[in-house]
Amino acid sequence: MPSIANKNIFRCKKLLFNLNIKNFSEKINRVAMFSSKEYDKRYFLKNTPQNIEFTFFETQLNPITAKLSENYDAVCAFVNDDISSQTLEIINKFNINKIAMRCAGFNNIDINKAKELQFKIARVIEYSPFAVAEHAVCLAMALNRRIKQSIDRVRDGNFELDGLLGFDFHGKTVGVIGTGKIGTCFVNIMKGFGTNILCYDKYPNPVLTADPQIKYVELDEIYKNSDIISIHSNLNPGTFHLIEEQTIKKMKPGVMILNVSRGPIINTRDVIEGLKSRHIGYLGIDVVEKEEEIFFKDLSSGIISNDDIARLMTFNNVIITGHQAFFTQEALTNISLTTCDNLSKMFSGLPCGNYIFN
Ligand code: NAD
Repeated sequence: MPSIANKNIFRCKKLLFNLNIKNFSEKINRVAMFSSKEYDKRYFLKNTPQNIEFTFFETQLNPITAKLSENYDAVCAFVNDDISSQTLEIINKFNINKIAMRCAGFNNIDINKAKELQFKIARVIEYSPFAVAEHAVCLAMALNRRIKQSIDRVRDGNFELDGLLGFDFHGKTVGVIGTGKIGTCFVNIMKGFGTNILCYDKYPNPVLTADPQIKYVELDEIYKNSDIISIHSNLNPGTFHLIEEQTIKKMKPGVMILNVSRGPIINTRDVIEGLKSRHIGYLGIDVVEKEEEIFFKDLSSGIISNDDIARLMTFNNVIITGHQAFFTQEALTNISLTTCDNLSKMFSGLPCGNYIFN
């Protein structure tokens, strides 16, 4: 007859055996996260499910660093990672066919190659359109009221107002190019200022179409009539260099241009010429062509090797922020939660509504 103590030991062993079986059956999926920062780590570690384990690589993903993804089950990438055909081929050789983008845009992916190699790529379609739209408004207000110059002056004990003259937004005409999630938020904020709003989108938003305060017009009308032009379309062949010499010529002298969407929508050289000729009165950008060479890095004791960006930095009517429009607590929470959910669905084969293509 086994003693009570022996029976208990047996029960414990059985329990441990069952637990081990359970643990073995729940595979830990390893994900190589590229371009990761401390804040990514903080938010992802808070929201990672038990069956996913992230390794946080600070380096950007590109054909050289792609080798780091060997022995992982998936890759997690961001806006300036280079997901070209070369990178995809390397990752694919490691038997990885899952990429979780922790952003909305996917212009940095060679989609044709990804399809050919049968990748599954998910993204975070919406994490906080408010964050990005609010940042565009912030750029517009800081440019208009010369906030940077006034902070510098006051810090130097200079309380002179000359040179800080702004204009009322109220009654001005705002042109919005792209009225998806972010463009619509931007429109709603600008309505509060009492501006006239002109919109252009290949696929107008029915809610805005029905709004008597808003008018959908052709692009040329936006260029001709707007005091402020804000770009919220995604980057695609139709929007690449949408703002260039010829379109700038159609704009009102002194126009304010805002771009929180993607850098290549604006031809940087042409905008520099527009600023030099004073045809462009203000430029507020959170994104710029070739930003991947410098953004998200501390170059304060280095050099800015991109001459166009360096030239833009010399104008006192230009504000550049380093792709920070998305950067709010709410957005980081939603990005980490949705990315983990996308990965879980990819690993378990459950349907996922966030695939870039099926
Ligand atoms: P969305 O897909 O909801 O909206 C994009 C809109 O652009 C759509 O309505 C589409 O019809 C329109 N569009 C496409 N081609 C066009 C064209 N040729 N002319 C006019 N309109 C066109 O996307 P969203 O969530 O509003 O985001 C917009 C863009 O903002 C993203 O693609 C991304 O590049 C950028 N973004 C930037 C940041 C940041 O931190 N700076 C963060 C998130 C998104």
